[in-house]
Amino acid sequence: MLNNYYHATAKVAFEADRLDGGQSVDVAIIGGGITGVSAALHLAERGVSVALLEAHEIGWGASGRNGGQALPGFGASMHKIHQLVGADAAKQLWDMSVEAVDLLHAQIARFDIPADPVRGYLHAAIKPRHVRDLKLEQEELASYGAPVGRLLEGAELRARLDSPRYLAALEDNISGHIHPYNYTLGLARAAQAAGAKLYARAKVSHVAQGETLTLRAGGHDIRAKYLLVAGGAYLGGLLAGIAGYIMPVGTYIMATEPRADVAALIPGNEAVADLNFVLDYFRRSPDDRMLFGGRVSYSTLPPPSLGAAMLRRAARVFPRLADARVEYVWGGNVDITVNRAPHFGRLAANILFAHGFSGHGLALTGLAGKLAAEAIAGQAGRFDVFARIPHARFPGGRALRMPALLLATSWFRLRDLL
Ligand SMILES: Cc1cc2nc3c(=O)[nH]c(=O)nc-3n(C[C@H](O)[C@H](O)[C@H](O)COP(=O)(O)OP(=O)(O)OC[C@H]3O[C@@H](n4cnc5c(N)ncnc54)[C@H](O)[C@@H]3O)c2cc1C
Repeated sequence: MLNNYYHATAKVAFEADRLDGGQSVDVAIIGGGITGVSAALHLAERGVSVALLEAHEIGWGASGRNGGQALPGFGASMHKIHQLVGADAAKQLWDMSVEAVDLLHAQIARFDIPADPVRGYLHAAIKPRHVRDLKLEQEELASYGAPVGRLLEGAELRARLDSPRYLAALEDNISGHIHPYNYTLGLARAAQAAGAKLYARAKVSHVAQGETLTLRAGGHDIRAKYLLVAGGAYLGGLLAGIAGYIMPVGTYIMATEPRADVAALIPGNEAVADLNFVLDYFRRSPDDRMLFGGRVSYSTLPPPSLGAAMLRRAARVFPRLADARVEYVWGGNVDITVNRAPHFGRLAANILFAHGFSGHGLALTGLAGKLAAEAIAGQAGRFDVFARIPHARFPGGRALRMPALLLATSWFRLRDLL
């Protein structure tokens, strides 16, 4: 993972449980990211017994590494979602994605999580095509009832985002940013307090299906009536029924040293992302660093000289950062689906899964865990709106996923250059 700023600035004291024997529970959960931890919390609050099994530490995966940008919507545009599920379900999905952002902020407040929440976002346009896209997106989101943000241009834009790179930016007061690792650990602490067991260093190596499920982890058998699979991009081939729907793709972030000039670059402290397919996303940290994300690796291996490469990208946006010292650089895998829409469903009547957030899951994962808890408790309606989104496997199965994705993405990368 290289050197993760969030781990260096973790503020939540959380100690995972130790798995030292077999046990029987109502619900087992694979994965200690936000999806799994949120499900554990909501299930435990309903009085359900829960054993969450995490291969590494809680928050080890994407949830403890991401850009911290909490947005409504999905990896796929609402236009695409509409095409996939029709108008009514698209409206329900949009509303739930906004609920996900509200849930994130409500949970931070309710559990007093030191996650430094900030509301405010700028969607930035690099080229005239992006400005047109922003206007179209603005109209489309307004049709879902989203508040219409202002399009900032010229001097007004430069006063809010001191970069020569952008032609325009759309204001968005729903989205914002947080410290994602503290948020994950804060939810984990709340889940534990509600009675859930959260086991770290407990990799699930086998799942035997049946009316009672048996999971093998750390040399022990965990028996459960239900299973939620929330392994994100890190699940690998554990469950063949869902493996081919996800492609893990590496993405990277760096944090500069704290600098006196960083605050003036984004004086309103918004999070920012551009509209490229391989996008730049960035924000200030509370200790005046620039946290700058971008680049992808389809092999999931970190590109060489990552820190220097990330700084060059940041200096294209903010030339005065060219001499900044990079103090942290890290990365993680996002769980991409073919259509970039999230992938929820069931492998059997008692096995649910929620993954495929396609780089857009910080807020939605919290709601995904809650919806999975609702479904397990017998109220599956909202989970099933997500489960209706159709998905395809990456063509050619697991071995050929990468070439297929490269082919599919090369056209979009080419478009980034135009
Ligand atoms: C670098 C980066 C930047 C990102 N930036 C943003 C952003 O700014 N905004 C946004 O909305 N989204 C962003 N994302 C995406 C977002 O972080 C994810 O969508 C979200 O965190 C996924 O959460 P999760 O709980 O589903 O999975 P994860 O947090 O990845 O957790 C899955 C966990 O499952 C565990 N696991 C897997 N297999 C097993 C097994 N067999 N046994 C036990 N445990 C297992 C893994 O160890 C892992 O800890 C980013 C992702 C990355 C990597």
